[in-house]
Amino acid sequence: MALRILFVAAEYRPLLKVGGLADVIEALPDALAGLGHEVRVLLPRIRGMPRGRRIARLPGIGTLREAIAAPRLKAWMLDTPALGRRSGIYGDADGAAYADDAACFADLCRAAVALADDACGLRWRADVVHCHEWQTGLVPPLLQLARVPAASVFTIHNLAQRGLFPAETAGALGLPAWLMHPDAMEFWGHFAFIKGGLQFADRLTAVSPRYAGEILTPAFGEGLDGALRTRADRLSGILNGLDETLWNPRTDPLLQAHFSARAPQARRHGRAALLRELGMCDADAEACVLLGHVGRLVPQKGIDLVLDALPALLQRPLRLVVLGRGEAAIEARLRAAALAHPGRVVARIGFDDALAHRIYAGADAFLMPSRFEPCGLSQLSAMRYGAVPIVNPVGGLADTVVDATPRHLDDGSATGFAMRSADAAGLLDAVDRALALRADAGAWSRLVRQAMERRFSWHDSAHRYVEVYESACAARGEAYRHPPPMPLRRRG
Ligand code: ADP
Repeated sequence: MALRILFVAAEYRPLLKVGGLADVIEALPDALAGLGHEVRVLLPRIRGMPRGRRIARLPGIGTLREAIAAPRLKAWMLDTPALGRRSGIYGDADGAAYADDAACFADLCRAAVALADDACGLRWRADVVHCHEWQTGLVPPLLQLARVPAASVFTIHNLAQRGLFPAETAGALGLPAWLMHPDAMEFWGHFAFIKGGLQFADRLTAVSPRYAGEILTPAFGEGLDGALRTRADRLSGILNGLDETLWNPRTDPLLQAHFSARAPQARRHGRAALLRELGMCDADAEACVLLGHVGRLVPQKGIDLVLDALPALLQRPLRLVVLGRGEAAIEARLRAAALAHPGRVVARIGFDDALAHRIYAGADAFLMPSRFEPCGLSQLSAMRYGAVPIVNPVGGLADTVVDATPRHLDDGSATGFAMRSADAAGLLDAVDRALALRADAGAWSRLVRQAMERRFSWHDSAHRYVEVYESACAARGEAYRHPPPMPLRRRG
């Protein structure tokens, strides 16, 4: 049966992108539409976004505008005066967060509930509302409070972002006082938007099976593992896919040389061009192993482990290029390392999509020693482009990279290297294993080919989401046929 699915998120790639969430909100609706489902995306409209066509007024909330999205999709933008003042969705150019987050995202959630129930006469009702991240956490409780028949699914892309606000927030937003309870949305004296999703959504998903298990433990649970454990039977992990049209080394317009797993020869031209671009032009550079890293420069990504291991790494025949931006202290350490080792370490501080593609296509290996990684996109791009990933096997990294152990090399499943401890020594050991294998040209080419041939398809993931939607609809139907679920009934 074709489902009508309303996506609600703070990012959507063609219109509003900060990170990987935007890519998911572009690719997954498209894959679902490809399976015959009817998908709408609701997102906030901030300054500088296209105006779109005004299609409805949501009394007390704002205006709904329709943007031209992909051929099979409709994107609805919520326009409010407060959102319109934002130059960035999460903060301004200096990274300063906005003081009106709770009110702005509560508006987005209210708009989602109104749309799901066709309260504004668009002749479209949702069977399922698929909410993403804390910004949409109020949707599941609001749907239930309004007794809207739509089911809700809440996806955790990164549990570290919880949307915590002062205790008074529930009252200030006009929400019932009982929501400020540990079984509902209270979290250590705060009002936590994410808990609306975690406690009230009919189904929960996380963006990889491993991460879905990890967040049930104190080590990865961000203080929410207890709450999640009580709903573990409703939680599943579904791996993100990689957009095969955007990330295709045979056709990528951002690459100078095109190649594929079957015809990898041209890759060395891209590698040579990248070395030149980075100023690594000395006689030894060609024979060295070029390590790459692209990512946000935050503790999560473990780039400090690379910096800690740098003195030892540089005793090996290696070069390193890092592209990223983020915390000032990490940026400064990287700049200092590049200054201290000219021609061997290059730090490009900033966001540069084209250079990112060239690094994936030119580096020999790709470092991703993340402390936690809900899914991770970079390692998928690296594999597709033939840069062998060296990863800390947590979350999506554990689910997507198969360690080059003797057994996995023998059976042809190996695609990268997994650190055996999450520290500088573990990273060094994994790099040494990569260097040892690289000395055997045939074995290395096989590993590169296996990495390039691994497919992470949105099509497969979309099928899994449909199963989740169907079970969410069944659960919601059941909940309305019988008394509503706790704690709504207990305190409602
Ligand atoms: P996260 O979503 O935690 O930032 P992911 O690995 O899931 O990490 O996705 C990051 C995406 O953003 C990748 O596609 C990566 O190539 C891209 N990216 C990150 N930093 C940069 C940068 N400085 N320049 C260009 N692309 C970047």
